[in-house]
Amino acid sequence: MDHQPLRGQRALVTGASSGIGEGVARALGAAGASVVVNFASKPDIAAKIVEEIKTSGVDAMALHADVSKEAEVEAMFSAMLSAWGQIDILVNNAGLQRDAPFVELTLEQWNTVLGVNLTGMFLCARAAARSMIRRGVRPEISRAAGKIICISSVHEVIPWAGHVNYAASKGGVGMFMKSLAQELAPHRIRVNSIAPGAIMTPINRAAWETPEALRSLLRLIPYGRVGTPADIGRAVAWLASDDADYIHGQTIYVDGGMTLYPEFAKGG
Ligand code: NAD
Repeated sequence: MDHQPLRGQRALVTGASSGIGEGVARALGAAGASVVVNFASKPDIAAKIVEEIKTSGVDAMALHADVSKEAEVEAMFSAMLSAWGQIDILVNNAGLQRDAPFVELTLEQWNTVLGVNLTGMFLCARAAARSMIRRGVRPEISRAAGKIICISSVHEVIPWAGHVNYAASKGGVGMFMKSLAQELAPHRIRVNSIAPGAIMTPINRAAWETPEALRSLLRLIPYGRVGTPADIGRAVAWLASDDADYIHGQTIYVDGGMTLYPEFAKGG
């Protein structure tokens, strides 16, 4: 088995200075890809991750951009393309929550979540697709002209009271990804999503921090453990590789069975 199936490819991971994005950036580096670690804050942590990725013998660099801002996204892609010439893999990972009961949800909370989780994916995918289309397929690199992977969520399909803005953004990611997959297929650009279940990261600290919270979280996970960023990193690295070349327009749930409606396991 080829342990570096992404050798020679160039990837950009948004929101890669923590949690799932960090895990994905490390996994892509271990699989042989050069990696841009995009960050919105904490440049020192991004720089440390870059140095650690480089120990796999690949190139890496940290680039700042708020993915919800068009000019910052364009500047980030220009910097990557002028340094490395091309992008082969985009992982749209940056995301956040601004939770509130619906009647108290502010327009600012709504716009912030939609702006990062959905508009951010649009801006980055558009910049990546333009470059992938221009270059086309290079069989010595990959069977596809490029791969775009969106980090969705089980809340693409599980409604989530108290998090209407977040669930709406992830439901949107589902149709965004599929429509984009339909449009970009003739260019041989593969577009898919990975939808994580409960992964231990800063975004959901309250859900696993105390033993009681962890117990109640585990009731939602048939497989009986909380996921790790490395679980998602491995899935993304495989999905980006030519081993997954015929997978297109799909959301793959990596969730320990959270979408199996575990409350029905012992009868309805
Ligand atoms: P996290 O908070 O550790 O990571 C989110 C990252 O996005 C951070 O690095 C943050 O700096 C970055 N970010 C936020 N706003 C940004 C912006 N405007 N521009 C660029 N980067 C920005 O949380 P995480 O759990 O690693 O989340 C990563 C993704 O996974 C999100 O899209 C989230 O919705 C999704 N997800 C997480 C879980 C989970 O259980 N942790 C489950 C399903 C989906």
